[in-house]
Parts: sequence; structure tokens; C-alpha cells
Amino acid sequence: MSIVRVALDVPLPTLFDYTVAEGVSVEVGQRVIVPFGKRQLVGVVMECVATTDVSAERIKPVTQVLHDSAPLSAGLLDLLRFCSDYYRFPIGQTVLSALPVRLRSDKPVISKPILSYRLSANGAALDVESFPKRKVVQRRILAKLAEHPCNIAQIKTLSATVGAQLRALVQEGWVESFTSVHLPSASSALKVRNPLSNKFDAELSGRTVNSIRQHTFDNAHTLTSEQQLAVNAVTQAGGYACFLLHGITGSGKTEVYVHLMHEVLQRGGQVLLLVPEINLTPQLENYFRSRFPDVNLVSLHSGLSEGERLHNWLQAQIGAAQIVLGTRLSVFAELPALALIIVDEEHDSSYKQQDGLRYSARDAAIFRANQRGVPIVLGSASPSLESYHNAQSGRYQMLNLTGRALAAASLPTVRSINITQSVMHHGISENLLREIALRIERKEQSLLFINRRGYAPVLMCAGCGWLSGCKHCAGKMVLHLNEQRLRCHHCGYQIRVPNACPDCGSADLIPVGSGTQRVESVLHERFPDARILRVDRDSTRNKRAWQTMREQIHANEVDILVGTQMLAKGHDFPELTLVGVLNPDSALYSSDFRAPEKLFAQLVQVAGRAGRADKPGEVLIQTAFPDHPLFRALQTHDFEGWAASQLAERQMAGFPPFMFQAMLRAEGKIETELYAYLNQARAAAIELNHPVEILGVVPAALPRRANHLRAQLLIQATSRKALQQFLRAWQSRLDALPAAKLRCSLDIDPLEF
Ligand code: ADP
Ligand code: ZN
Ligand code: ZN
Repeated sequence: MSIVRVALDVPLPTLFDYTVAEGVSVEVGQRVIVPFGKRQLVGVVMECVATTDVSAERIKPVTQVLHDSAPLSAGLLDLLRFCSDYYRFPIGQTVLSALPVRLRSDKPVISKPILSYRLSANGAALDVESFPKRKVVQRRILAKLAEHPCNIAQIKTLSATVGAQLRALVQEGWVESFTSVHLPSASSALKVRNPLSNKFDAELSGRTVNSIRQHTFDNAHTLTSEQQLAVNAVTQAGGYACFLLHGITGSGKTEVYVHLMHEVLQRGGQVLLLVPEINLTPQLENYFRSRFPDVNLVSLHSGLSEGERLHNWLQAQIGAAQIVLGTRLSVFAELPALALIIVDEEHDSSYKQQDGLRYSARDAAIFRANQRGVPIVLGSASPSLESYHNAQSGRYQMLNLTGRALAAASLPTVRSINITQSVMHHGISENLLREIALRIERKEQSLLFINRRGYAPVLMCAGCGWLSGCKHCAGKMVLHLNEQRLRCHHCGYQIRVPNACPDCGSADLIPVGSGTQRVESVLHERFPDARILRVDRDSTRNKRAWQTMREQIHANEVDILVGTQMLAKGHDFPELTLVGVLNPDSALYSSDFRAPEKLFAQLVQVAGRAGRADKPGEVLIQTAFPDHPLFRALQTHDFEGWAASQLAERQMAGFPPFMFQAMLRAEGKIETELYAYLNQARAAAIELNHPVEILGVVPAALPRRANHLRAQLLIQATSRKALQQFLRAWQSRLDALPAAKLRCSLDIDPLEF
């Protein structure tokens, strides 16, 4: 009798043993249905073993082995085991959460058949030259299909109006459709070799993987010499190497990615491109499709429907998808022919998951590249200090792009406006308003960047000093004047704006500080004829809204943009020549030691929006500290100097990247229970007597959220290994502590404090 050890989506840090009936074959990586308590759960076979500690009376048989998708590869299971161990998260939940939802359910995976098109016998006999010249699109489709059959996505790259033309060709009998089911079955196994790595042979099941074929490549630009050096370095890596591509905004990092992809695709490899923002995926998808018109590119992110995500995941698994573009979860995609990983905007904090498996997709990607023996490129205009430090100490290889790719585009000039010496209009200085007026005259665009949505961050009573606190949280309720609401951004609680102070009855309630709505209304007053567009999470809640706004901006139907960091990332607005930064100062005295690093990265990004085309850009920063080194470094575009000073400070203070940290967080309704748990955890940690530093139990930065009190305990060590060893030992002590009514979590390499 054989026994399988199964990963299940339950919050216990173990695998579960089941028997397999005589004659049933089951492989590691396969999905199975097993009884668990009164339920039937889908799990993944992690090991096949001969014996078990579970007694013969208690062990149960596997209910069913699922054959509707290929088993997970040994490589992916290793990556997941590593993540479970490193991030101290139950193995079963780690494995299952990496799979598309549909693979976690026991419903059979019915992959939608994919409709493809090919020339009919008549069509194949047709001489395209004899086809009417005016039917341009139809001629293009015929020429394309003469090369090879295509699915609809591939045909759509030819023209926007392709649908009707294709139907006409089918009706007239030149083209026929057929279905190809990209459903991997376990019947015929075939080996696919990773063209770059000898180390790794992935076992694949199912249909034949596309043979290596020539693809069309829109080679739009001749690379600059710096770009060429970067491309050469990566292509010559010949195995695992981690590159940090540090390129100023507009230096053409994307062009480097495109050339690297081209090179890998030519050799039949797969590329994984990680991007931070789901908002950016559609435009990037279109961009890469336009550069590689006949390459099969799929995206993976949480905005896809379950069916789409499953389909794309399976495309990657069978090797049919040559480029996988996705947000952090795509780091767990199966990629049998993986030959290159790119992490764009590697510094972005959205690569770190903030709940469940608290993994960093960037770090998991590095593990994966190493495991598979392939190069990885981390790209950024403002690298994280962790990566920058690794590049300086030689663990990563630094690649620099120091000039803008377009000769005409120069870096924007950056100036500070001292708000203590300026005439201010509700948070906007007279100087900045004048500059905006100048841009309106010249028919250029301005952007005001403020990282707060709503009208004002708090409402105050002038009579008694009452502040609009949230009754469920320790934070303040934000005034949303357009909607006449006070809203808590932490827990979502909201109420109508009161007419009078709830404490003293005074009607004299004043909004304190500014958010995007207030900036918008100040601008409306000053520039009544200007077209003003506010871009924040409130104004883009609707799925299509942001897309429509981008089109408006590109069509130059907007004079002034007001927005949060949503606007800062990766967008190219050629008419934009002025960026105003409002209110950046709070980051300078934040208790979060990463706040200045984050601010610097944000300002580099947002400044990079100005003057991308042939018009020089200008950035004005409103601050009470115009001489602060952070703003000085921005003015001189001196990332190196800034990073060096930050790293020196971090080293002095004993912060990452010189320290490795783990945060134990707990939340609960009863203060004594919460602190008892954390104090016992701390006592247990001290008892273990490992070479780690154990800090005190302290309230979280937001000490109460949604009626739960929150506190935390930080552990740090000078080496990753020491911390990991400690955590393994500590884990069993933590599991033994009474914490029934608490929500507890361990966060390794935490980004939020
Ligand atoms: P980044 O991603 O570094 O901000 P992009 O890749 O978006 O920069 O490039 C900025 C602009 O420069 C784009 O319009 C791009 O088409 C153009 N570009 C990039 N590389 C070259 C090149 N070698 N020659 C000419 N133009 C280039
Ligand atoms: Zn009052
Ligand atoms: Zn709240």
C-alpha cells in the first residue's frame, strides 16, 4: 500500500497522510480530493512515501486523483516549500494559494476550447495578389494565415476592425475555424528542455509545445551604447546572475527588456515579466504585443476572471505562453522553459504581500532564477536600498543607464518652494499657481501630486478642538466633501458630515489640511476655464474610468491633473511639462525608517513624468525644508549620493539592509490577552537564547483598527541565517501559546511598521 503526503488549504503547518488504493497511480505534484473532517478538500501530493505515523485505523484513502491538469513540477513545489519555510506560513496554504482558484476547487478543469483560424483548401490555393487590393485587412489576414494558423488574439494584432473582416473571409470560404484545446492531459508526457539551462528538465504533459520558431520583432530603436552594454551583460550571463538595472526615468529600460526578450524568444525560452501594478498591465500588455505581434503573451493578475486566469496559467504551464506578464502572484506560475525573469520597478512595495503568505515576489523571483539557473533583471529608476546595497557589495551586478534615451528629452529641473515664505492658497503656493497659468497659456499640461485622497484629512471644531476620529479606529475620518461624508480609510466606516460639533454643538467646523478634492476645488476657483482631472482611487473606482482618463490625457483634453501616486507610475504623457509636489514633508519626520526612501522613489517617479518628449520639464516641490538632503539630491539627480547617505544612516541605526527583521503582530479585542500573548512570545524568544535582538512589545503605528487593538514585537539579527534559525525554533513555542481570540501573524522582512 502506498501513502501520499498531501498539502491542504488548512491553517496547520503540516502535510496530511492518505492511502492510495491498489492499482491507482499517483504522482508528486498531482491534485487529489481527500476527506478532511466532514469535508472533501482538494490538495496537492507533495510526497509519495512507504510508511506513516498515522495509525491504520485512522488513516483514510484518497477519494480521487484529478487528472485534468498536469502535475505541478518539482521546481515549483521546491519554490513553494522554500516560501512556506522562509515566511513561516503553513505549507498547505502556501501551495494552494499559489494556484488559480479553479485549480483549488474539485470542479473539473474545463479549459475553454480556443478558436483558431487557418486557410481552407480554397484559401490555400488562392494567390493573395489576385485578391482585391482595397480589402486591405482581409489581405493581411490571408497573408498571416498563410504563414501559420492563428488564434483570435494573434489575428487581432493586425487591425482593430479585424472581427468583421475575419467573418467575411470565413463566410466566403477562404478561412476556416477549428478548435484546439489547450488542455494538458496526463496521458502523453514529453520532455522540454530549457534552452538556457542544462540543470533543469521540466516534465510536461499534453500537447506538443510550439516548436521554436521565428517571431516578428518590431525593432523600433537602435540601442544606445549603455543599453547595448546592459543587453550584452545579461545575454552573456549563461546561468543565474542577478542584475540591477538602474536607469533614470526615460533612459529606455523598457527597450532593454524588449531586446532581452527578443533574444530569449529566439532561443525558444519563456520570459516572466513582473510588474507592480495591476493598473499598468493592460497598457504594458498592449505595448509588448505591439513589439512582438505574433508571440503568445499572457497576463496573470487578480483582475482576470477565474476562467481567464486558469487559461493563462495553463498556457504558461504547457509552455505555449512565451511571455508571462503579471503582478506578484505570477511568480508562482509554472514556466517549463523559463529563461529570463524581469522585475520592473523592483523597489515597489506592492511586490510584498501584506496578508496570508507575506512573501516578496521580488525575492521569490530571485530564488527562482537561482534555482533554475537563469538570469534575472531588477529594473528601477530608484532602486530599493536593499538591492542597491547588494549591487554595491557585488552580490548583484549593477547596470547603469545614465542618460535619457531620446536625445531631445532632458531631465526636468527640480526646485523647492519654501512654503514658510510663500503666499499660500489652501495649500498651493502663489508661485506654483503662476507656473500652472503659464502652462495653460502654452497649452501644456501640469500635474499636482498629493498623496492624500478626499478633501481634507480631518475635520476640526474651532470651538472646542474636537477632531473627526473614527469610533472604531485610532485614526481620523477623512472629509470627502463631494460625497458629504466622513470616511475612515482604515476600516471603511463612514458617516454624513455633521452640521455641528458632536461635543460642543458649535457649527464652526473647519477642514484641516488638503487632499486631492480640495486641491481640485482650489484650482477650479483659480482657473475656471481650465479642464481639471482628478485621478485617485475614488475617481477611478469604475473599471473603465482610468482607461478613459488616460485617453483624455493623451488627447490633450486635460490642462491640469491632480492625483495620488496612481499618476506617478510608468505613464508617458508627452504634453506634461510641470509637476507640482504638495505636502511631502510628513515623510521626513515619520516614525517609519523607510518613509524617506519611499518618498524619494515616489518623487523620482513623479518627476519623471515631466518633460518626456521634446519639451523640457520642471518640478516644483512645496516644502518647509527646502535644504533637506532629500530635496537637494532630487535637484541634482544624485541617487548615488542620496543612497550612500541613507545607507550610512541605516548602518549606524542598525536597520535593514544591515539587519534582518521579523515582526510578530497580534490583534484582539481584549488588551490584557493581547499583551499577555506578546509578552509570553517575547519571554519564549529570550529563553531560546539565540544570537538575535529581541525588542520590546509595543503598540502598532495604528494601535486600534476596526475595534481591534494592535501590538507588535520586532526581532532582528545581523544575518539572515541566524534569524531563520531562531524563527524555526521559536515557531513551535508560538504555536503552543494560547491565542484563540487573537489574530497573529509573523511577517518576515516586513515593509510596514
Ligand atoms: P524608462 O522605462 O527607462 O522610463 P522607456 O523605455 O519608456 O524609459 O523609454 C523612454 C522613451 O525613449 C520611449 O519613448 C522610448 O521609445 C524611447 N527610447 C528608448 N530607447 C531608445 C533608443 N535606443 N533610441 C531612441 N529612443 C529610445
Ligand atoms: Zn466642538
Ligand atoms: Zn476606522
